[in-house]
Amino acid sequence: MAKAFEELFPSEETCHEHLFRLRWPEGFRCPRCQGQKAWRVHGDLYRCQQCDHQASVTAGTIFHGSRRPLLMWFRAMWYVTNQRFGVSALGLMKELDLGSYHTAWAWMQKLRTAMVRPGRDRLAGTIEVGLTYLGAHKPGKRGRGASGKVLVVVVVQDLGNRIGRIRLRRIRNASADSLATVICEEVEPGSRVFTDGWRAFGGLAELGYRHVVVPKEGGPGETALPLVNRVAHLIDQWLLKSHQVAVRPSYLDYYLDEFTFRFNRRTWRSREWLFFALIQQAVAVAPLPASMMNTPRPLAPPPDKGAGPPKPPRALTPAGGKRGA
Ligand SMILES: [Zn+2]
Repeated sequence: MAKAFEELFPSEETCHEHLFRLRWPEGFRCPRCQGQKAWRVHGDLYRCQQCDHQASVTAGTIFHGSRRPLLMWFRAMWYVTNQRFGVSALGLMKELDLGSYHTAWAWMQKLRTAMVRPGRDRLAGTIEVGLTYLGAHKPGKRGRGASGKVLVVVVVQDLGNRIGRIRLRRIRNASADSLATVICEEVEPGSRVFTDGWRAFGGLAELGYRHVVVPKEGGPGETALPLVNRVAHLIDQWLLKSHQVAVRPSYLDYYLDEFTFRFNRRTWRSREWLFFALIQQAVAVAPLPASMMNTPRPLAPPPDKGAGPPKPPRALTPAGGKRGA
């Protein structure tokens, strides 16, 4: 593990203290009686001196219920935020010597959940909204369109000479209802919204947007929505580069969240900031129950047939099956 990390978090206790400060910035506060004094029972567990209620530093965070040390989670977050193209479960398994692909995969899903800031704001100003098909690069397999590409709405903030922030949302179909839902959730009313001439965008003015339809250009390579196309291309490349294993449509949400998290912070000078942002969000999000991990988010199409935890890519499975404990 990097020296910079060891200096920041040399021990389990330093991780604990960091979470404690994020959780209770003004000192312990009992969630039941608001009491401000507590005994530390053990590990991350505290007992309120006023009402005996036991409160844990990790309750309500993605670390809740994990039997692994916090230090390991912090290492995972450091690793994830320091890889430019994102990481695979297999990479994480090797880095942390997790011993089980399934555990590494579950950790990745939890970390990706933490990449969406709860209550994030809507994009405002000049916005491009477009549709793209993503996912499921299946070498050697053809003709299975239904389990292949997935329709994604790409929302891009246009800052004049550069791209601002983005939002990516998977939708079931390109109907007016689906698009209105996403745009209302992701774009501030009053914004100038550029779309192509797809008729389902027709109702945007009624929803309070200044809607501008960009006519399709004639020539090849000419695109109506340059920013949407650029972002869609980048996602495609990123999915290919960082996730050699085919991305199942039902997991695509998580990859889209990871891409958005990285993309919207691409100008941050320090990787360390990304790391601290991820910890902060990991504390703020509700834990992801195991039963939810294979469940697509709302607005998603029906789950894939037989979607279960993914199997490690055969070529990369460690010889002999088990890694050292
Ligand atoms: Zn209390």
